Amino acid sequence: MDYGDYEGVMGLEVHAHLLTQSKIFCGCSTEFGAEPNSHTCPTCMGLPGALPVLNRKVVEFAIKLGLALHCSISHKSVFARKNYFYPDLPKGYQISQYEEPICNNGWLDIEVDGQKKHIRILRIHMEEDAGKLVHERTIETSSYSMVDYNRSSTPLLEIVSEPDLRTPAEATAYLKALRDILMYLEICDGNMEEGSFRCDANVSVRKKGDEAFGTRAELKNLNSFRFIERSLDYEIERQIALIKKGGIVVQETRLFNAEQGVTYSMRGKEEAHDYRYFPEPDLLPVTVDDAWIDAVQGTLPELPLEKMDRFMTDYGLPRYDVEILASDRELARYFEDTLKAFPEPKTVSNFIMTELLRELKDGNISPKDSPVKPQQLAELLTLIKSGTISNKIAKEIFPEIYRTGASPAQYVKKKGL
Ligand code: ADP
Ligand code: MG
Ligand code: ZN
Repeated sequence: MDYGDYEGVMGLEVHAHLLTQSKIFCGCSTEFGAEPNSHTCPTCMGLPGALPVLNRKVVEFAIKLGLALHCSISHKSVFARKNYFYPDLPKGYQISQYEEPICNNGWLDIEVDGQKKHIRILRIHMEEDAGKLVHERTIETSSYSMVDYNRSSTPLLEIVSEPDLRTPAEATAYLKALRDILMYLEICDGNMEEGSFRCDANVSVRKKGDEAFGTRAELKNLNSFRFIERSLDYEIERQIALIKKGGIVVQETRLFNAEQGVTYSMRGKEEAHDYRYFPEPDLLPVTVDDAWIDAVQGTLPELPLEKMDRFMTDYGLPRYDVEILASDRELARYFEDTLKAFPEPKTVSNFIMTELLRELKDGNISPKDSPVKPQQLAELLTLIKSGTISNKIAKEIFPEIYRTGASPAQYVKKKGL
């Protein structure tokens, strides 16, 4: 996208639901989609006198992400109350972190059009999610709302980037890379439809070459990759057109209307909340010692970019293949398991990217649950290599083998191929 003399400036705030069994300050389950209000207790319902107890796993996951994003991990971090009223927030405040978050000053490298770019991470903090309002409209009653506190106190990490992103494509690449890492670390399922991975974007524009940033607008709840680029592009164009007409951008919160493809103002600066943050008196500061950080460091898996580099160097695969194979940890594992029995990377890659992925995608199946195991795929590729069947036949019989989970060698023998 080309904005002439102007350029966009974006910083993103991402919320990621953590894959802990229980909530951040009580023992209630974090399961999604349960009977409304069945996973609740006095603490996550905000009843008077109920006290929070921090879930250790949340801290461990925060350290894990912090290390993966090259942050410094704070030996002491502090929970704070963010005060505001809304019916989905029964305590009247959200427990979050403010001045002293758990992670600071990291970075994430992204790649757009073959160009590597370094995006700085300002901070990562731990917080709780709010409950969920369900709005109903009926003929008898005009309309009413109900509240489900199952989501109340679900653990979140908020990841705040520096305003280093310049184009909607960069913002999308950043979000994809961040989501891949969260999923690789197995601390977030990355499900955008269920709200496990959500993004607010701060957007401003400036003349190319200018040092100073322009005034920013905040786009709330960008929760599908399909719309993120479009909404950011629309917002950048809107601000540029406004400035060119002699207008000024005002600091406000905006929402994206996907049907009309436009952003519109939700609330201005005058209506902005004053959250009256103060340290949470019911929780001690969180202390993390070096031994804990080292222990978590020891559990970090190889990350997507490292894996991509290794797949290119060790297996001589092209970037296109590597981006597909390494972006999903399970698929990468499947690929390497197949190689153990059939060590020809490009042949294996070709078959996985076409035949196997088609079947997996059709059924929305994870590679680890594939009915054709790496061993069987290797067996099939061996039959091609030995000249028993042609590549064409292999592709023809693959759907049947996939459906039945049959052994390729036995199948070929039985059919007399
Ligand atoms: P707030 O608490 O109001 O959300 P922060 O200082 O935490 O403010 O910044 C929020 C986000 O806004 C960060 O991701 C940051 O990179 C981004 N940001 C700050 N200034 C600008 C700007 N002028 N244009 C675009 N993004 C910006
Ligand atoms: Mg903000
Ligand atoms: Zn609870």
